[in-house]
Amino acid sequence: MPRLIILSDRQKSIVDGVEANFPTAFHGFCMRHLSDSFRKEFNNTILVNLLWEAANALTVIEFEAKILEIEEISQEAAYWIRRIPPRVWATAYFEGTRFGHLTANIVESLNAWILEASGLPIIQMMESIRRQLMTWFNERRETSMQWTSILVPSAERHVSEALERARTYQVLRANEAEFEVLSHEGTNIVDIRNRCCLCRGWQLYGLPCAHAVAALLSCRQNVHRFTESCFTLATYRKAYSQTIHPVPDKTLWKEMSEGSQNERNGAEVIINPPKSLRLAGRPRKKRIRAEDRGRVKRVNLATLKNYRFSEISRASEMLPDRLFHHYQMRYQHV
Ligand SMILES: [Zn+2]
Repeated sequence: MPRLIILSDRQKSIVDGVEANFPTAFHGFCMRHLSDSFRKEFNNTILVNLLWEAANALTVIEFEAKILEIEEISQEAAYWIRRIPPRVWATAYFEGTRFGHLTANIVESLNAWILEASGLPIIQMMESIRRQLMTWFNERRETSMQWTSILVPSAERHVSEALERARTYQVLRANEAEFEVLSHEGTNIVDIRNRCCLCRGWQLYGLPCAHAVAALLSCRQNVHRFTESCFTLATYRKAYSQTIHPVPDKTLWKEMSEGSQNERNGAEVIINPPKSLRLAGRPRKKRIRAEDRGRVKRVNLATLKNYRFSEISRASEMLPDRLFHHYQMRYQHV
């Protein structure tokens, strides 16, 4: 079972929530949030592009080369990014498999869609969400029926490109699992039993890299058998196989009263709405991100020396502006 990976903007409440509820999950930065903060601070497209290249780098050597390029342009920018541990954002150090996903964009687009529904009364809100999901499930089922490949189209493209590149590689076999793959880029070692390659592409994306494809073809293995099951068409179809059924008009719904319904049918359960307090003022519709709260401030780490080490090391995984807010709030209570 792969380790659960959660990507977010790593606001303190989310960091605490993940630690409390998913203690074994790995919690990384959404790169879009990180690059937005970086862009706000330094406003330089070349630097932002280098940050993305560093995030996408598969090996530590490639990663360090990109950070050095950032440093050559701006030492301040390199300092800013070095203060955020690379294991929470950079692919080369990341402690989990993101399958090439570096952002939480999918959640953001869902949030944007759900924003309209969230302003409706509870029943209309639930109906709006149900109708949208009913349509999506049907659309995805119908679309996937037209596919005839083994993998979903994006994964199939990835494998086709790897097959194309693998044609020019020379493969030497060491034993039944290990291979040395020679190309103009250099030498890579592939282990087909553990599904890994020295370039790290196979283990990070869950799909064989070009070196792995060359090794698999050299021993007449089926490349598709060495892909993660989440990329197969069968898994995609299974995810959307259940139908969300239409619901008749509200006027036809049965009114359930406590007691009477329970007596007639023991399986029926009345679910009461949760007790909640409505806060004064107009409900806020748009979430405010940390980077929108004003200018990003510098943190003087010397002033933090009285804090326990674990607290500081945990906080150092926040963005510098969040770190400031975190300790500013703490000091107000000291
Ligand atoms: Zn490789």
